[in-house]
Formats: sequence, structure tokens, C-alpha cells
Amino acid sequence: MRIILLGPPGAGKGTQAKKIEEEFGIPQLATGDIIRLAIKEGTEWGKRAEPFVREGQLVPDEVVIGIVKERLSRDDVRNGFILDGFPRTLKQAEALEAMLQDLGIAIDVVLYFDIPAEELVRRLSARRVCESCQTPYNLISSPPKNDEICDRCGGKLVQRPDDTPEVIRKRLAVYEEQTKPLVEFYSRKSLLHVVPSSGTIEEIYAQVKAILGKK
Ligand SMILES: [Zn+2]
Repeated sequence: MRIILLGPPGAGKGTQAKKIEEEFGIPQLATGDIIRLAIKEGTEWGKRAEPFVREGQLVPDEVVIGIVKERLSRDDVRNGFILDGFPRTLKQAEALEAMLQDLGIAIDVVLYFDIPAEELVRRLSARRVCESCQTPYNLISSPPKNDEICDRCGGKLVQRPDDTPEVIRKRLAVYEEQTKPLVEFYSRKSLLHVVPSSGTIEEIYAQVKAILGKK
């Protein structure tokens, strides 16, 4: 089975990908991971990506596409894969379509993890980090024993500037704007399934399994 996962950061995509990977035995291909691997292995496209990553710049579309194509040509994805973080743009989706055609395969399902903006704000703005030892916490899902004090070193827990509600709302708006064309692209192909993602990990996975079970 060949699966694409869409959804904003914080919607729990990575966790669901791990569960699909375990149960269905198909590898999760997270874009960041496959770029790092290509660089480490010094593949043709990995070499092109290296300077951008080293400089902390965004890796250009054509390089990301090249790296994904290298990865999808390997043996371990013969029975399927879970793409997480790719495609991110319509241009990448069209390139993916073309490369899959070359390989003689096609996407079976696109799962869109849909979460209300306010729920996402609630989850992400609960993130804290110890200002001394950098241990991450979440006041909702993994709180410290004592209010806003690090369990490990007694340091003060602080919120990263990226995790304030205003920044999260802005980031989400950017994500939705960028993803809208992808959602339309895959709806037109009747591949898109919306997974409401405000429940628990298990509740969300039950919906995922029901969709994948019909494929
Ligand atoms: Zn600490």
C-alpha cells in the first residue's frame, strides 16, 4: 500500500505513521530523514542537498524531488511506503505523479489529518522546555511533577517563542494556504480521506485502520 500523509505539525501524523508502519510493515519516509540519509550516504542528490542543509537553508524543490525519487527506487519500498512531509507543494505532487508513473506504481490513499485550529493551539502552546537542560515537556500530555519545574534538574520551564498561540495560528494559516491545492489535487483523484484528529492516538488510529482496511 502506498500512502501519503497530510496535516499540520502537531496533528499527530508522525505517531500515526509509526503505528501504520508497525501494523502494515511498510516503511515511513519522513522527508527530513530521507534527506539526511541521502547526504550521509553521499548519493548524487544528497551531495546537491548538503550545502543547503549545512547553511540552514530550505532545500529546493528539484533537489527534494530528486532525493525522493532515489529513495522510491529502493527495494524496501516495493510493497509500499508512507510519505510523511512530501509532497508539500502542488509542484512536488505533480513531480511525484510523474516519478511513480516511471516506476509503474501509484498512490493508493491520501490521509488528511484535520484538526481544529484551537485544538492545535491548545496542544502546541502547552509545550515547555527546561531552560537549563532542555528537557521537553507538555503541560497537557507529559507534565512535570511540580508546576513548571524540571523533574531532572529543578530548572525553570519556559515556552519557546515558536510555541505561543499567535505564532502557532500564523504557522497554521501558512500551512493551510500551502496545502489547499494539494487537498484539491488529491480530492479530484478520489484519493483523499479526511481523518478528524482531535481525539486520542488510539481513536485516531481506529479511523486510519478503517480507511486502510478498505483499500
Ligand atoms: Zn532541566
